[in-house]
Amino acid sequence: MAQDVYQHYIDGEWTDGTGDETFESTNPATGETIATFRRGTPEDIENATEVADEAFEEWRELSHIERAEYLWDIYHELRDRTEELAEVVTKECGKEISEGRADVIEAYHMVEWAAGDARHPKGDVIPSEIPTKDAYMRRKPRGVVGCITPWNFPVAIPFWHMAVALVEGNTVVWKPAEQTPWCGQIIAEMFEDAGIPDGVFNMIQGFGDAGAAIVDHEDVDTVLFTGSAEVGHEVAAKVAQQPGTLAACEMGGKNNIVITEKADLDIAVHSATMSSFKTTGQRCVSSERIVVHEEVYDEFKERFVENAKNVSVGDPLSEDTFMGPLIEPEHLEKVRKYNQLAKDEGVNVLVDRTELDADEIPDGHEDGNWVGPFVYEADAKEDLRCTHEEVFGPHVALLKYSGDIEEGVDIQNDTDYGLAGAIISEDYRQINYFRDHAEVGLAYGNLPCIGAEVHLPFGGVKKSGNGYPSAREIIEAVTERTAWTLNNSKEIR
Ligand code: NAD
Repeated sequence: MAQDVYQHYIDGEWTDGTGDETFESTNPATGETIATFRRGTPEDIENATEVADEAFEEWRELSHIERAEYLWDIYHELRDRTEELAEVVTKECGKEISEGRADVIEAYHMVEWAAGDARHPKGDVIPSEIPTKDAYMRRKPRGVVGCITPWNFPVAIPFWHMAVALVEGNTVVWKPAEQTPWCGQIIAEMFEDAGIPDGVFNMIQGFGDAGAAIVDHEDVDTVLFTGSAEVGHEVAAKVAQQPGTLAACEMGGKNNIVITEKADLDIAVHSATMSSFKTTGQRCVSSERIVVHEEVYDEFKERFVENAKNVSVGDPLSEDTFMGPLIEPEHLEKVRKYNQLAKDEGVNVLVDRTELDADEIPDGHEDGNWVGPFVYEADAKEDLRCTHEEVFGPHVALLKYSGDIEEGVDIQNDTDYGLAGAIISEDYRQINYFRDHAEVGLAYGNLPCIGAEVHLPFGGVKKSGNGYPSAREIIEAVTERTAWTLNNSKEIR
């Protein structure tokens, strides 16, 4: 990157904003500084919200198709620059390059879906109870949509939030995660290049105080939040005090894979390995609990442990690397603490790569936030913190069960979270039972517990979800419905 200090994008202009502070983006694999950014203040959010509110009046008058034109430009740019952007994602958030690529692809899938949908906006024509009346439902934009996004999908999640919101006629005030401001900068440049009208899209770099200012602002009509449960519940509680404001929050998980006695173990081992260790366990849908039937437990354990001992940890830019670093030193510290906590809670440790050997760390990467898999056996009936709290790292519990599928699903449901879960089984009755009784928003059968498709709902239940700030169901958060009835007869009603 070339500039000395990168700025915010407000009202179609690059600006320093009102604050004096700056912050740096750091490569988690090397510890090197990437670039310096202005730190946004609550006043910057105030200014951005004001212009977004003004811009809404004209933007809402365009057709869906006209609004989508701006997004088609961005779609093509994301496609044309996928490799370059994947590298940016990997350098800034440490994901393996294949995952960096997947992040960009997921982003253009969302943009394609939102812009394509402009050609068939949705509504319901509902026959009225009185034949001479027309009745139908119209959707209207809500106004200013505030978007607060996490670092772990720094390109996909912002577009998950913003693409439909914009096509539906809202304007946007967006705060990228403080760990991934470079991705934020590039996305803002894309909106600028697409010529989006001033004030329609605004990006303010910064931390939680800037995010909180979005939540608190009375002119923000919808708050879309994806991130930790801790912050998400605070956001939802604040918005609940503001009549007329909506919040849709997607949060963390403590996700399970249930492997039954009828499982194909090749699928089971692959699914658990991918879900627990890819992105170094830092996906909201990563599995930290593998619930395994006793009949297949020993074989599964042996094969999974073998993988955990051998998955490569290293330079995320190398196509051969399975796991990159953790996002930041504070998070490395947190994962190490949870690994220690598990030991303190008396679990049986099977693989402990908390500290990597020096020869595992590639040259020039000594200052990265490195950790390898940590796998242990625990008693599913014990109420341990390590088996119930989200670690957000390659920290995995094997939990054995002996009864029927009901018992496996009871263990799966024994967490406060309800984001994602998978079943591995060749028995359709077991699969159907899981589908109907697992308390999760995202359920996978004979697949790794990862992945999302933008035309499906993406969200959790219990402590993991509170509305849908992304993918298909986002329309409910960014539009209002009007039930319209029109009297076509001369009769006075
Ligand atoms: P985080 O909650 O720390 O931060 C998310 C965003 O909220 C950041 O932009 C941050 O600056 C902002 N923020 C922090 N404090 C705030 C406050 N008081 N008010 C308003 N905004 C505030 O999360 P993170 O560390 O960036 O991301 C990791 C978490 O996100 C994990 O728990 C993961 O499971 C979750 N996540 C969930 C999904 C999902 O769709 N369910 C997807 C990705 C990540």
